[in-house]
Amino acid sequence: NQGLLQVKNLKKYFPINKGLFSKTVGAVKAVDGISFSILEGETFGLVGESGCGKSTTGRMILRLIEPTDGQVIYKGKYIQDLPKDSMKKLRREIQIIFQDPYSSLDPRFTIADTIGEVLEIHNMYTRKERTDRILHLLEAVGLGPQHINRYPHEFSGGQRQRIGIARALALNPSLLVCDEPVSALDVSVQAQIINLMQDLQKELKLTYLFISHDLSVVHHICDRIAVMYMGKIVETADKKTLFENPSHPYTQALLSAIPVPNPGLATQRIVLEGDIPSPAHPPTGCRFHTRCKFVTEKCKKVEPQLKDIGGSHLMACHL
Ligand code: SF4
Ligand code: MG
Repeated sequence: NQGLLQVKNLKKYFPINKGLFSKTVGAVKAVDGISFSILEGETFGLVGESGCGKSTTGRMILRLIEPTDGQVIYKGKYIQDLPKDSMKKLRREIQIIFQDPYSSLDPRFTIADTIGEVLEIHNMYTRKERTDRILHLLEAVGLGPQHINRYPHEFSGGQRQRIGIARALALNPSLLVCDEPVSALDVSVQAQIINLMQDLQKELKLTYLFISHDLSVVHHICDRIAVMYMGKIVETADKKTLFENPSHPYTQALLSAIPVPNPGLATQRIVLEGDIPSPAHPPTGCRFHTRCKFVTEKCKKVEPQLKDIGGSHLMACHL
């Protein structure tokens, strides 16, 4: 199984410009050579602290921004090479659910207009069919016909995220990039939205790339998980392995900060020393070495590569 989507050695460097003539003086290596593949029908989690490059990765997959280097391969096709007309089709197949349901909906548009616009741009359905399609989508996300002509401000945060999901589903996508889809919601509402997403996944055979900083949420919804730190993937494993046997010191620290799903595990909290270094000047060698309690001289000089430590459990650490 090659997977529905493959990412190969993907990079995004943002230039740092200074002065009157915008001379480029360096680059922020937001994403610095990451690889993974997402299998059809699974939920693949991309986790890490804010600024680690997970949203930038999502945007490159959606082709909202172009990579500096590397490839995104969807259903066996290199998306950077696609001609314009195929690109439009691809846009239907890969959709996004945004973090903030407050700012991602235009306050001037009713729900019918918001979803109708998406269908119109892609020339899907006649005018009459469109209304049926919108009603069907609203029902699928737990809203009703009484909501169709209302404006975003008339809805709660959870309802707005349901509308965001309905909009993302309007074009029958296969892959949804979910960028912190529940982070802006109350905990009680989070569970409802996660459950809805899981039901929709089963029913519509969707594949999710689930981007989050919240390991409890990731534990709930993901099948496999990649942990990112400063533009790199430091560990990838299936959920059970990652939560029961985290191997990278950074993953261990992240996991120690949340209630442990397996009470048999050691639960001593590992406090990360120091701040995340500036992404414009990442540490040499292992990027985590300034915060790692196992750091050695080698760690400061040699960058550890991602290696299989058994059973598709990948890890990048000299230990
Ligand atoms: Fe820590 Fe060294 Fe492993 Fe990096 S390579 S995580 S510094 S032990
Ligand atoms: Mg983000």
